[in-house]
Amino acid sequence: MNISTHHFELKTKGNTEIIDITEQVQSIIDSYNYYQGNALIFVGGSTAAISTIEYEPGLLKDYPNFFERIIPSNQRYEHDNTWHDGNGHSHIRAALQGASFTVPFLNGKLLLGTWQQIILIDFDNKPRNRKIIIQLTGEKKDEK
Ligand code: ZN
Repeated sequence: MNISTHHFELKTKGNTEIIDITEQVQSIIDSYNYYQGNALIFVGGSTAAISTIEYEPGLLKDYPNFFERIIPSNQRYEHDNTWHDGNGHSHIRAALQGASFTVPFLNGKLLLGTWQQIILIDFDNKPRNRKIIIQLTGEKKDEK
């Protein structure tokens, strides 16, 4: 049984931009020769989230539109009294969505559905640099 922690960084545009990070996660599993286990994907920061979606042009519009309806960006939030950064909606969207997601893998491959990708969503109201943490737990190929 092994555990190892990795990361990569991404520049985002913010404003509920959705970025497919499936390849980066898979390539870390490949590089470290894992056979079977779990990949925990986490983003540090209170205005971003990790989830899964079918990464296709329609949903890349539908999902931000959904957040705009349930947690509108043009409303006043008490958070803005604290920091005056205008991103109260970003924090609430991120809290609701969650900062991490776990995917099992077997034979060194993520057990995602054919049309299922791992995504970073940046809800902040400005471009950000994000650090994505990948923590792998499991057996390596040479020890099974
Ligand atoms: Zn804020």
